[in-house]
Amino acid sequence: MRSVAFLDLSRQVATIRAELDSAIAEVMGSGRYVLGEQVRLFEEDFARWCGTTFAVGVGSGTDALQLSLVACGIGRGDEVITVANAGAPTICAIDAAGATPVLVDIDPATFTIDATMVAERLTARTRAIIPVHLYGQCADLEAIVQIARRHGLRVIEDCAQAHGATFDGRRAGTFGDAGCFSFYPTKNLGALGDGGMVVTSDRGVAQALRELRSYGEREGRHSVRKRGHNSRLDEMQAAILRVKLPMLDSWNRRRREIAHAYGQGLEGAPLGLPHEASRRTHVYHLYVVRSADRDALRSRLRERGIETLVHYERPVHRHAAWPELGPQSLWLPETERAAREVLSLPLYPELTDAEVSTVVGAVRSAL
Ligand SMILES: *Cc1c(COP(=O)(O)O)cnc(C)c1O
Repeated sequence: MRSVAFLDLSRQVATIRAELDSAIAEVMGSGRYVLGEQVRLFEEDFARWCGTTFAVGVGSGTDALQLSLVACGIGRGDEVITVANAGAPTICAIDAAGATPVLVDIDPATFTIDATMVAERLTARTRAIIPVHLYGQCADLEAIVQIARRHGLRVIEDCAQAHGATFDGRRAGTFGDAGCFSFYPTKNLGALGDGGMVVTSDRGVAQALRELRSYGEREGRHSVRKRGHNSRLDEMQAAILRVKLPMLDSWNRRRREIAHAYGQGLEGAPLGLPHEASRRTHVYHLYVVRSADRDALRSRLRERGIETLVHYERPVHRHAAWPELGPQSLWLPETERAAREVLSLPLYPELTDAEVSTVVGAVRSAL
């Protein structure tokens, strides 16, 4: 049987190789390699594409989250509400900002924060909510924004897996005080290295971010008003991302087409299939199924040449790095069940129809 890799990024590069080569050559010849014209133009393009006023390029998605927290005035002694099923970066960012993560369970249908559980975790120190738009689907942004308004909290959206996902027709990243994106190579919009972006419609937040990403200095001046950091999107990555951005909508459409084919092919199988909630457009950063017998299914797929991954094997409160989060497992039953059951099948725009059929056949026979 033919084997199918989980992801092959070289296929996408091959489709736009000539454009990438000339964009890279232009940067090399420009003499400007950090914070130049390419970053400025990409920030404009990306803000327009998302539907926000400002965009600030930074070094990574994790930095986008950390610097957004700091730009919103959140730090030591403050509590930030988020989820435990999204891998380490969101928690790393809260940690790096000096704040304390408070974990809330997920809605089992969408794997995103269960907005009805947020109220139980509020304290006098709660300052922000970070909804993670996991696997390519927005959290219930209406409910989150409502809770935040009622309690005077900031909303910082983790959009690292949700470039172009919508809620009521508006794109992820445009609902909160800041929308944080990653351009890690595997994301729906990926650089050929690290990169990140914060979008915002708040001029003050944008200005603070521009200072924070560059040691806390105001551009063109030498007075440091904030304790900053060095986290900048470089010209090479910005030029590469400018080549790719015009293709992103069609790549996302292809992701949805493959998800639809999986949905049809696997209909009726003893498997939980991804659910696109009402009012939302899912951009399928990952195609995640559920199986009570996940590990057995995964090894049977491996025997059939199908590579799968698990996002994520361990919720953050079960990692050795954060022993203080362990006790929060008490109120995270759906998060823990998801960690035991989730399995990600191969899905990326360049996956062929033949490969999709191969995966469907292998999953059916493995079950
Ligand atoms: C990838 C990712 C991040 C971090 O992005 P980096 O660019 O790798 O720092 C944050 N949150 C989520 C949900 C992610 O998937």
